[in-house]
Amino acid sequence: MDSQAFREAGHTGIEDIATYFDTLSSRPVVSTVEPGYLRKLLPSSAPEEGESWSAIHADIEDKILPGITHWTHPGFHAFFPCANSYPSILGELYSAALSGAAFNWICSPAVTELETIVLDWLAQILGLPQCFLSTGPTRGGGVIHGSASEAVLTAMVAARDKYLRETTPPESELSGEAREDFIARKRSKMVALATTATHSSAKKAALILGIRFRAIPVRAEDNYSLTEEILSQALAQCKAEGLEPFFLAATLGTTDTCAVDDFAGIVSALNAFTPAGQPGEVWVHVDGAYAGSALVCPETQQEVNISLLSNFHSFDMNMHKWLLVNFDASCFFVRDRSWLVQALSVNQAVYGNHASDGGLVTDYREWQIPLGRRFRALKVWFVLRSYGVKGLQAHIRRSTKLGDEFADMIRSRPDLFEIVTPPRFALTVFRLAQKGEAQTLEERNKLTKELYDRANATGYMWFTSTSLDGRVAIRMCAGVRTTEREHIERAFKGLVEIAESIMKA
Ligand code: PLP
Repeated sequence: MDSQAFREAGHTGIEDIATYFDTLSSRPVVSTVEPGYLRKLLPSSAPEEGESWSAIHADIEDKILPGITHWTHPGFHAFFPCANSYPSILGELYSAALSGAAFNWICSPAVTELETIVLDWLAQILGLPQCFLSTGPTRGGGVIHGSASEAVLTAMVAARDKYLRETTPPESELSGEAREDFIARKRSKMVALATTATHSSAKKAALILGIRFRAIPVRAEDNYSLTEEILSQALAQCKAEGLEPFFLAATLGTTDTCAVDDFAGIVSALNAFTPAGQPGEVWVHVDGAYAGSALVCPETQQEVNISLLSNFHSFDMNMHKWLLVNFDASCFFVRDRSWLVQALSVNQAVYGNHASDGGLVTDYREWQIPLGRRFRALKVWFVLRSYGVKGLQAHIRRSTKLGDEFADMIRSRPDLFEIVTPPRFALTVFRLAQKGEAQTLEERNKLTKELYDRANATGYMWFTSTSLDGRVAIRMCAGVRTTEREHIERAFKGLVEIAESIMKA
């Protein structure tokens, strides 16, 4: 393909994409293909001779789109959303053209410098304490990772390194084999803490690192958030067992119910255990993968008391979930960037250069697990500039309002539905109402599952379910950019029809 052919194909491609979004609501939300559908449609090996673009182009509509589940469909209420927007798509296009593995500043200074700048902008918009800015008093800063899972793994690596550094006697007192043994023994006692509501990525991080992991049970009466009392008990229990907690994954917006852990309670419980700033303090990573986007609104910053984050060590949120940037843009902030660099900096002669050696530049390879990295800051920059802070706030407030309106609709039919946890951040968690006093939990769960399956089979709405202390519940998230009032009304009407027929049966 030469530049003229690219121009022509590109114009058509942009036209296709715009039409895709304009007509999206007419497609079923979830792909209906059978497993293995594509193997039947494609040749068993790559073509020997190059094909024309028109042949390739035709296959997008005929072969690929049938196998796509449309995450930007207005009836997509499952999981959490996976965002996109036109400015973001344009950012991705330019990023592909300027492709490189910009792991060191010199590999493309604009890639590194734009990332530092837009993450400082984002930290300000989210109301994060100054310590998370690259220009802040503690030399913190942000970096774009591929996913929240990668962010929690990176945080855990840095936390392990910091804990071992702070709790191992200096070389002058302990060296050689004895030092190795001391560290090995300590490692075997270190434990990463999370809760039973924490996303599974924290457990996976511990699994990858070969570290003990303990999920502290959270309770329905606390709306599944971590409280001071529960954390204090868990810390005491660890101590009694000779374990050394070094990491806590706290959450702003859990996956099941959008619960927010009690940040003030966490600060208080940890200070009573190992005071902040003391060697061996517990590293707190706040996972705001989805709901972190809501921090663009000052009312949310106040509600969750965001200034308390200055007591914690790292924070992560996915712009690609609810903040209009397409996958991937997981924005990870740390209070002191040297914690990452000390844990992850491994030198190899081939990567040396004057700029890095002079210590004047950021080399993001030292802030992350992979070496190479994409130019992700471009799409973030395009979105922040196109929408502006006011546009981002309007988007979040609009989704939140739709979520609240849906929750009100559910509440308006207590004969059919029951809200399970307080609706928050555009997420409503509900189940079928109790049908007669004699109905068992098992029977009620079975009927809630039936409601869920039949709703998902309609093709115009898609939910995910969860289980909370054995109670099956349906999650409805109204965070997709294209969802309007008419779509949630349609979803509610569909749910009512199905629920009525189940209740009558
Ligand atoms: N944390 C929370 C609260 C989530 O809900 C999710 C996914 O939905 C994740 C982490 C994992 O996100 P990622 O796919 O970016 O690893």
